[in-house]
Amino acid sequence: MAYIISPEKYTYEQMLEDLLILKKQYPFIEISQIGKSVCGKTIHAIKLGIGPKKILCNGSHHAREWMTTPLLMKFIESYCLSIVTGRPLYRYDISSIYNRCTLWIIPMVNPDGVNLVIIGLFKDSPFYSELLQMNKENIDFSSWKANIKGVDLNRNYNAGWQEYKSLEPSLGILGPSPSGFSGPYPESEPETQGLAAFTRWLNPDMVLAFHSQGEEIFWDYKGIAPVKSEMIAKALSDVSGYKLSEPYEPGALYAGYKDWFIKEFRRPGFTIEVGRDTTPVPLSQFDEIIDKNFKIILRAAVK
Ligand SMILES: [Zn+2]
Repeated sequence: MAYIISPEKYTYEQMLEDLLILKKQYPFIEISQIGKSVCGKTIHAIKLGIGPKKILCNGSHHAREWMTTPLLMKFIESYCLSIVTGRPLYRYDISSIYNRCTLWIIPMVNPDGVNLVIIGLFKDSPFYSELLQMNKENIDFSSWKANIKGVDLNRNYNAGWQEYKSLEPSLGILGPSPSGFSGPYPESEPETQGLAAFTRWLNPDMVLAFHSQGEEIFWDYKGIAPVKSEMIAKALSDVSGYKLSEPYEPGALYAGYKDWFIKEFRRPGFTIEVGRDTTPVPLSQFDEIIDKNFKIILRAAVK
């Protein structure tokens, strides 16, 4: 069977095309719509399995970290293939995981931002002049992290948001920017509203938020993560070789999705930083990233 997902130039439209093919080939997956981006692109969540344990995985909060989207799409494909062939995936029996755990995968939280990074700026974009201004008149958007309005979606959650906001001037952030601007108030953006509402509805046992890069796992928020978080983080570190980390930059301490999840739910939430060296992570690392992160997701599912 030929593989469907290829990581090259993985735009929002490419993801939609692949989702349609996956659904046709593997009708047992469920695809839900959890919200829309600023530009009206639908944000999707894919449900795998029927088990009582619920894990939510998401990717591409940050536009330039778009490789986390083909990573999660590839996971969906490999999982489905394993279900229909009965062959294990990294020695894990997927039909057993299917019955024990429900995985919800949101491959692209920030579709407008991802397309801006991959395709570039269109002359007819409704945000054309604002985007150029935020990017200091530079036409190269390959380092963009924010959504299309210049809000950093992973600084837009209600966990230490005010503390982060007061730090912004010292970080040189005075308004909408390619990265680091937390928005006018928590959950001000349709993308974070959609994901937060979906998370509240799902009430998951654990969340994994995929970012790049650093090959590391962040597992705590202000020392309030439950005791088992560190234990699970160690298990995820063991299978991947990624190191366990505490946030080291003052700006990285607050208002992220996993911070908010830990604060609101007091359950294990992790930020997984895939890849290393350069930004964006080069395609040459994709196979290794798949290897390490499939093991992380599968380990989390059986933990
Ligand atoms: Zn990130």
